[in-house]
Amino acid sequence: MAQIEVLSEVSKFLEGSPKMTIGGKPTEAGSGKTFTVIDPSTAQVITEVPRAEMGDVDAAVASARAAFDDKRWSGLRPGKRTEVLYKLGELIKRNINELSQLESLDSGKPIKIASGEMWMAGEVFRYFSGWPTKMFGETNPTTDDQFVYTLREPVGVCGGIIPWNFPLIMAAWKIAPALAFGNTIVLKPAEQTPLTAMRLAELALEAGVPEGVINVVTGFGEEAGQALAQHHDVDKIAFTGSTEVGRKILHASEGNLKRVTLELGGKSPNIVFPDADMKRAAKGSMFGIFLNSGQICTAGSRILVERSIHDEFIESLVAATASMRLGPGMDDETGMGPVVSEQQMKRVTGYIDIGRSEGAEVVSGGNRAEELGDGYFVEPTIFAGVRNDMRIAQEEIFGPVAAVIPVDDVDHAIEVANNTIYGLAATVWTNDLSKAHRVARGVKAGTVWINSTGQYDPSTSFGGYKQSGFGRELGVHSMEAYTELKSVWVSL
Ligand code: NAP
Ligand code: MG
Repeated sequence: MAQIEVLSEVSKFLEGSPKMTIGGKPTEAGSGKTFTVIDPSTAQVITEVPRAEMGDVDAAVASARAAFDDKRWSGLRPGKRTEVLYKLGELIKRNINELSQLESLDSGKPIKIASGEMWMAGEVFRYFSGWPTKMFGETNPTTDDQFVYTLREPVGVCGGIIPWNFPLIMAAWKIAPALAFGNTIVLKPAEQTPLTAMRLAELALEAGVPEGVINVVTGFGEEAGQALAQHHDVDKIAFTGSTEVGRKILHASEGNLKRVTLELGGKSPNIVFPDADMKRAAKGSMFGIFLNSGQICTAGSRILVERSIHDEFIESLVAATASMRLGPGMDDETGMGPVVSEQQMKRVTGYIDIGRSEGAEVVSGGNRAEELGDGYFVEPTIFAGVRNDMRIAQEEIFGPVAAVIPVDDVDHAIEVANNTIYGLAATVWTNDLSKAHRVARGVKAGTVWINSTGQYDPSTSFGGYKQSGFGRELGVHSMEAYTELKSVWVSL
């Protein structure tokens, strides 16, 4: 064990009972209510944050509306907005130790991984800082007596609702493009992990983002989240989370027909062919499901293995998994931390029971790791002998549980890969170029990784097919999600 010491600025932040940021001011809930924040590694309360209700969301939306309407942000010179967003990226990086500790304590993530994530969140701001100067319109080829051009304009007030698996990265994915294209935003982080988003709102003010442009409200989905999704003065909602709540967001949005992008669940296939580099495939498949304790929307939770190498591959996968060290987030030797909450732990162990009762065989893990104390630790678990119609192969578990399913050949692999309501990502391990591209074309998924998994870059768009959602985030295509297009006709 190499337990990390908590930084004094982190203790100070937690002891000060963090506030929401509305209109640039530290803000408590109007009701004075709070809720507790728990460290999943210890099950101990680490702080309390405001519990926002409808009135608080109204105040945050009003502040974002005022900031949008008076153009205090969109009216700045594009080069100035670039400077501010770039600076915010830099401030994230400068405060990386503090932010990683907050993230690790809040979510249970291993500190080293949290640190990499904070860096990536900074990169998202750096990437989007380049966009304010690139919001080009077009001139259109119409008749000689007309001059037609298009204007790209911000959508207006955006609402961001995000999950607990990558708290600061998810906040960056919503805030950076919203601001890059001239919008203002109200962000509601997940109730389990509000802290880094709250700190980000402070850093944004320090970077020079005008007051009211970024507002962060903390609270529960059914209260604050619902109030934001149905708010008539919110022009767009960007949601990441479960498919079930995605449906609710869509319903809540119908009142004013706000724009909606949904980034939802997955049950992503990870396909291994006999001609793959086996060592690399086993290690990659292991990380693909167990990184972040399996709490990744793109987790390769269905491992499809060609029958001829099935037993041999399972052996390699189990061996690779044995190297994954389970432990508390704030230990710098930990490879895999706890799951995020008691509720999530019960859900995951419940699915392990379901897998057993469906007749699948546990070849690794299979239990809560009680020896690690009160934290929400679940052993990395591998099921063999899984059929694709079992619940553990069809339902998103969102925990460290892999289902290994044998397949016959490329066509069968594609068929099984697509036999799910989801379509977020797919991974394929093969050294056969044509097999790799046949799978890439054949799978219905927003992202395909060949001979690696879990790669992201702010330049590369991300999103789902089928019930994994719609719309694309990151990259050039995020412009569609955060702007309106206006056609202007001039008669000559
Ligand atoms: P979730 O319920 O979908 O939560 C995502 C966000 O939506 C949270 O901020 C949540 O607030 C909010 N929310 C919940 N109900 C809402 C409503 N009626 N209106 C507006 N906002 C609402 O996800 P979760 O509870 O964190 O996890 C449940 C399951 O979702 C997981 O087990 C996993 O299967 C899936 N999940 C998927 C992803 C993904 O990226 N694909 C990410 C996280 C979870 P609260 O925090 O208060 O609930
Ligand atoms: Mg929830």
